[in-house]
Amino acid sequence: MSVDSATAAKQCITGWSVDIHGTPLCQYCTKELLEGDEVTVYAYRPVEDQVVSVARLYCSECNHREIEHPALGCYEWLAEARLATISDVAHQSHERTLTGIDIIDECGPKEGDAR
Ligand SMILES: [Zn+2]
Repeated sequence: MSVDSATAAKQCITGWSVDIHGTPLCQYCTKELLEGDEVTVYAYRPVEDQVVSVARLYCSECNHREIEHPALGCYEWLAEARLATISDVAHQSHERTLTGIDIIDECGPKEGDAR
């Protein structure tokens, strides 16, 4: 597992729009995540893929700090982030994105549970 991949993940997660499917919620307690909230982000990339996807968000109270069940064949990351709102004045729209990314845990594709 190289430092490069964490750096790449960080770049991919930064600016990720979290409300394209509606209000962003904590995966665990389903609390609504608001602008300025500290959140934990779970992101992954299948080995054969070049695209990092943000799959889950957790609020700071749920304090999800470790990848508990690594997936075989995936690079996975947990990162601390903050929700920021970007306003598009021309379209009068707002979107919540991730900023201030700090990778706190990562797993390589060989660390998965093969059972
Ligand atoms: Zn929560």
